[in-house]
Amino acid sequence: MAETHEGQPLLIVGSVAFDSVETPTGRADMALGGSASYASIAASYFAKPQVVGVVGEDFHAHHMARMRDHGVDVRGIECMPGKTFHWRGRYHEDLNNRDTLETALNVFQHFNPSIPDAYRDTRYVMLGNIDPTLQLSVLDQTRGATLVGMDTMNFWIDTARDPLLEVLKRVDLLFINDEEAMQLAEEWTVLGAAGAIRRMGPKYVVIKRGEYGSVLFGPDLTLFVPAVLLTSVVDPTGAGDTFAGGFMGFLSRGGTLTRENFAQALAWGTVMASFTVEAFSVEGICNLQRPAIEQRRQQLLDMVRY
Ligand code: AMP
Repeated sequence: MAETHEGQPLLIVGSVAFDSVETPTGRADMALGGSASYASIAASYFAKPQVVGVVGEDFHAHHMARMRDHGVDVRGIECMPGKTFHWRGRYHEDLNNRDTLETALNVFQHFNPSIPDAYRDTRYVMLGNIDPTLQLSVLDQTRGATLVGMDTMNFWIDTARDPLLEVLKRVDLLFINDEEAMQLAEEWTVLGAAGAIRRMGPKYVVIKRGEYGSVLFGPDLTLFVPAVLLTSVVDPTGAGDTFAGGFMGFLSRGGTLTRENFAQALAWGTVMASFTVEAFSVEGICNLQRPAIEQRRQQLLDMVRY
């Protein structure tokens, strides 16, 4: 049983998936993935995640156990006739870029999220990477959240820009990688893209730059965190979702939105993401022990103490 945190609830909606991933050094086929899987397991070290999503008949009890063993509340994961969402990707030699080879929405095509009544008042909400129409439907069912974060990706910027712009008007914080931020904003610097995105709605934007760290932009606030330096990166899949899960999980403990708390959240997101990339699927973030997490956080803090 993993060492989890009996914390405040964090509602997470996103994909629960099977991923088939090729990297220059290895591959994984039909392994557990999806934005909600990564985000919820990462958040479980800080909070009590409640997941809303959908799986197909091919999703077995042992897959669900990966989340349940981390104290994740999976009552909001619906099982529908058909196959689980499947994503297939191949990384380039430098691991910074990847090609999506297949996105099979499967049960997501007919999914209409229904938020269990018990989750509707949850104060911290993470809209993981998923069809923006579904993100909107989730927002319509929540009541008075304190902080709503969202993630998205090029697939939705390309295929669902209008609903995506609608969601952006209604969230507090967007997590996005640099390339996608520039694509969304049609601005070609990180600073320009962050400004344009903030004018679309979210008060805060976190722009993730892979191994070059992340930057948070807010009103009168710019904060940078480098990535943890690693000798071996096995599979970057899910790093962004893990980052968001750690970040939101930390904030859901009730800290106010101060510079100090945002800095801590950035550090925790970065630390959790560094574990994800060391293994395929969710293996890197399962069953982590507190001292290992603390040690890595210290390694990060030592790097930025001048
Ligand atoms: P990341 O590496 O953080 O961008 O997240 C990768 C995860 O996102 C994988 O586990 C995929 O299953 C999931 N994913 C990929 N494409 C989509 C999509 N179009 N909608 C929802 N989830 C997706």
